[in-house]
Amino acid sequence: MNILLLGSGGREHALGWKIAQSSKCDKLYIAPGNAGTCNIGENVPIGVNEFDKLKDFAANHNIDMLVVGPEVPLVNGITDDFHNDPRTKDIPVIGPSKAGAELEGSKDFAKGFMKRHNIPTAAYETFDGTTVEEGIKFLESLQPPYVLKADGLAAGKGVLIVPTLEEAKKEFREMLDGMFGNASAKVVIEQFLSGIECSVFVLTDGDHYKILPEAKDYKRIGEHDTGLNTGGMGSVSPVPFATKGWMKKVEDRIIRPTIDGLKEEGIDYKGFIFFGLINVDGEPMVIEYNCRMGDPETESVMLRLKSDIIDLFEGVAKGDLDKRPIEFDDRAAVCVMLVSGGYPQKYVKGYTINGIDKVEGSVVFHSGTAMKDGQVVTDGGRVIAVSSYGSNKEEALRKSFKEAQKIEFKDKYFRSDIGQDL
Ligand code: ATP
Repeated sequence: MNILLLGSGGREHALGWKIAQSSKCDKLYIAPGNAGTCNIGENVPIGVNEFDKLKDFAANHNIDMLVVGPEVPLVNGITDDFHNDPRTKDIPVIGPSKAGAELEGSKDFAKGFMKRHNIPTAAYETFDGTTVEEGIKFLESLQPPYVLKADGLAAGKGVLIVPTLEEAKKEFREMLDGMFGNASAKVVIEQFLSGIECSVFVLTDGDHYKILPEAKDYKRIGEHDTGLNTGGMGSVSPVPFATKGWMKKVEDRIIRPTIDGLKEEGIDYKGFIFFGLINVDGEPMVIEYNCRMGDPETESVMLRLKSDIIDLFEGVAKGDLDKRPIEFDDRAAVCVMLVSGGYPQKYVKGYTINGIDKVEGSVVFHSGTAMKDGQVVTDGGRVIAVSSYGSNKEEALRKSFKEAQKIEFKDKYFRSDIGQDL
């Protein structure tokens, strides 16, 4: 099969790494890819939101399957767009319809969906410019800290957790006044939940589903979860508190009702669902849905997937995912993200990266990298993920930290406490 994979991050390098291992994969293209993905397939210089160019490319290169990595093209309706065009209508897309991607694209929709299907989540209300006073009253009825969420996509920055009522009221008004542009034209205010978070991933054909290994990611820039939020500084799989019993609760109360709810509402969903969960006194609750895999969780989870991913994707496309076997590696897998100094604020791009070829026994996934004059250079905040197996997470982390030292670029930074809280 000829596969076109969309995206340019560590997640896509990890997905591509797994796709390229499949005997069913003849040719892998990555649009636009990065300096690592060109070693597992062919990079194509087309952006993930250039739908017309992507359809032209797919039609002209006999693409048999489109795999969408990031959320933005999904929320923008790439799946429907491919399927409404006579040239690409028969190409299966791994990624939900625009309606399905609303699980991530609109927090108000996601919360309403959970309410309709009795899926455990924090109590909430949604407000807009016409209901400011009601919003203030709702805030007054809650206990601190206060959770304010921009309804739409805001590149992972649209959630504010505010310690005092005064600040919460101020931020609430500012959000409605356009703090996140149109994304905060509606604001979800919700009850604060206290617990440890965990990401659970499901692949679904709309009827059946397979649960992938769970993972925990580390969002803050500073050690011991301090400082600003980032795209993710590392991940660990498995997660010790995600026991069989806990995962059964997740499946019974969250996963199955979500898949059944999508079906009941007539929403076409073929692809990954990311459940951002929180463990509240032993009970799983949903913090958020994403309509794609997580980054940097994919860089651990793909190491633990033993089965042929294209076989699973074919199951998604054909609607017989239940007939496809899925097997996992029992070992632990972790990923440590090397980032540019200054990230998630201002940082410099274009520094030469050395030492990738010296890494032994770990898998290097490129994130923000590019080729310049035959050299791999930094091209983003998150630069490289160093992923490793181990008989337990400690062993895997030791390996990643050791190999991370070998990769050099100016102002490199990584968190050396990944996984320590588990
Ligand atoms: P992402 O960075 O995954 O894109 P997002 O911007 O879509 O996130 P959420 O995942 O809904 O937003 O929230 C971001 C983070 O805020 C969560 O990972 C969690 O740590 C915290 N958070 C969100 N909602 C709550 C809540 N109700 N109670 C406690 N913490 C919360």
